[in-house]
Amino acid sequence: MSEQPPLVASADPEVEHLAAVLRRRREELADAEAVRIGDGAVAHELITRIWVGVEVPGVLCHASADPLRLQAAPGPVTCRRCRARRSGDSGDQVPGQTSLEL
Ligand SMILES: [Zn+2]
Repeated sequence: MSEQPPLVASADPEVEHLAAVLRRRREELADAEAVRIGDGAVAHELITRIWVGVEVPGVLCHASADPLRLQAAPGPVTCRRCRARRSGDSGDQVPGQTSLEL
């Protein structure tokens, strides 16, 4: 039997690079009132998630799992799902967003 490589490299340069990119992204968005996803018109509420021990930016409603697509946007939050999650009610209809019957 030959030795097996470790399942997780402790200091993989690619992992370290990704962690650094994600930390920097969080710092860049730290002062944002809200965030857009890509070129989207909807302003989502910015939250911080912990991903493999690294603080990464995210949106409250989970509309995007990709922190690198988030762009700082002026407030207020217009995303209906973010607002509903924050306030605990279903919120009002937001112009430009269609309600889905689920
Ligand atoms: Zn949202």
